[in-house]
Amino acid sequence: MRANVFRGPDKIGVEEVPRPHAGAGEAVLRITLTTICGTDLHILRGEYPVRAGLTIGHEPVGVIEELGEGVTGYAVGDRVLVGAITPCGQCRACLSAHWSQCGHGDDIEALGGWRFGNTINGAQAEYLLVPNAQANLAKIPDDLTDEQVVLLADIASTGFNGAESAQIKIGDTVVVFAQGPIGLCATAGAKLMGASFIIGVESDPVRMKMSQQMGASVVLDPKQCDVVAEVKRLTGGGVDVAIEALGTQVTFENCLRSLRPGGTLSSLGVYSGKLAMPYDAFAAGLGDYKIVTTLCPGGKERMRRLMAMVQSGRFDPTPLITHYFRLDDIVHAYDLFGSRRDGVLKVAIRP
Ligand SMILES: [Zn+2]
Ligand SMILES: [Zn+2]
Repeated sequence: MRANVFRGPDKIGVEEVPRPHAGAGEAVLRITLTTICGTDLHILRGEYPVRAGLTIGHEPVGVIEELGEGVTGYAVGDRVLVGAITPCGQCRACLSAHWSQCGHGDDIEALGGWRFGNTINGAQAEYLLVPNAQANLAKIPDDLTDEQVVLLADIASTGFNGAESAQIKIGDTVVVFAQGPIGLCATAGAKLMGASFIIGVESDPVRMKMSQQMGASVVLDPKQCDVVAEVKRLTGGGVDVAIEALGTQVTFENCLRSLRPGGTLSSLGVYSGKLAMPYDAFAAGLGDYKIVTTLCPGGKERMRRLMAMVQSGRFDPTPLITHYFRLDDIVHAYDLFGSRRDGVLKVAIRP
């Protein structure tokens, strides 16, 4: 089969690799649609280490091709969505309700639940081996298209969880720093959670416009204004919840500085290097702030809930898909996505 294989920093491409087969508890999908995540760009650039020879990608939509022994309630031919994170449902982390941190065994290790395109072969391929299939195959309702569900595997699940982890209450004010695909889904999540006023922070014109479409009341351009001062002015002293969706010192610190006392910083970004917390931004430790972090929730029940939101018309992720590519052209898709040319938000990949 053909698959997009990582060979080392800046070296990826479609290769012929052996097709997987399903062992006990596993399933094989024929991939019908997938996408590229910002995390895949970090892998490609050598900023997040994975082993050479790994097929990357972690956002699979497909049709069941093979079912291993012990997987019940599914049939070959079923259309399914699988989350980017594949909890086993049985380990210490899973049974403590920390499914994203699944250790698929006795160990608990941060990021443990993220396996596709990280520690096992991923979804940018013709076929995908799904581990712990019983916990992870979410049947797609007949009235939903592949395009309507592909972004639920990761970015919508992650973005929404930024709002859920912050425990946004009806009437809260919220600021979301950065309106990339995950930040846009965090904005949509804040709206669904009942925020009364949502401020998007973004300077790219395409993303600023989409921010309003996803639910932002206003969008501030950090190149044009002092965002923290403007957030405080608009909200009468600071927001209840600040969501960080970029992963930089500046945006993390600006989130802290935008909070009202007792507010919550919900962090979605992936950071590198050292993250500093200046004492004044942190009210010297006396501001009653909460800082929460999120790794994309996965598992079939999470996917079912997200698909129900699309089915009911409460959330439409399709405007975020701006470009389509064949798997054979995936290197071009990475180039476009990585360079943010041509108003790209998310690219859909068809094998
Ligand atoms: Zn991702
Ligand atoms: Zn587990």
